[in-house]
Amino acid sequence: MRWILVILAILVLILVAIALAGAMLPREHTVTRSIFLKQTPETVWATVTDHANEPKDLRSRGCYELGLALHYFTDITQPMHASNYTAKDWPLELHSDYESYGMTEQARFVATTWAGPTSGDASAQLLAAAHASKPRWPTLKTAITNAYAARGCGKFSSYWTDHTNCWEGDASVDAQLGVELVASQQATASYLFAIDLR
Ligand SMILES: [Zn+2]
Repeated sequence: MRWILVILAILVLILVAIALAGAMLPREHTVTRSIFLKQTPETVWATVTDHANEPKDLRSRGCYELGLALHYFTDITQPMHASNYTAKDWPLELHSDYESYGMTEQARFVATTWAGPTSGDASAQLLAAAHASKPRWPTLKTAITNAYAARGCGKFSSYWTDHTNCWEGDASVDAQLGVELVASQQATASYLFAIDLR
C-alpha cells in the first residue's frame, strides 16, 4: 500500500514540476531577423531592385510567400489568435474545437457583400484586421459561456477540457462565428487589394 502512495506522490510531483515549468515560460513571443552584409547599402539596393536579372523561380517563390502571408493574415482574423487565447488555455482544446467547428460550418457564412477596400498598405491592413478581431473573443466567450449554461453543462470556466456538445450549434455562438467569418473574408479581400497583384 505504501509503495503505491510513494509512486502516486512521485507522479503528482512530476506533474506539478511540468506545470511549474510551463507556467514560467513567457506568454509573449517576438521574432526578429537581421543580417550583416559586407556590401555597401548602394550595392545591396541595386541587387534587390535588379528585376531584369531576378532568379527564374522568383514567381513560384512569390506564390509561396503570398500563401504564407495569407495564412498569417487569415490567422489573425480568428479572434482567439488576436487575443492570445491558445489551445492550452482553459478549458483545454476549446481553441482547436472552435476552429474545427468553423471548418464544418464555414459554407453557411459566405460573404455576399463588400463595401470595397479600406485604405492603407498591407501592414496597415494586417494591423487593422488584428484590432478588429481581438474584441470579438470576449463576445464569443460570452456566447459560449451562455451556451454551456443553457445546455445544463454548468459553469464554463470550471471545465478542464472543452465539451463541444455544450455549445456546438448554439444560435448565439453560430451568429458570432458568422460575424467573424464574414469579417475575415472582407478583410482578406482588402488585404489582397492592398498588395496589388497586378
Ligand atoms: Zn488556432
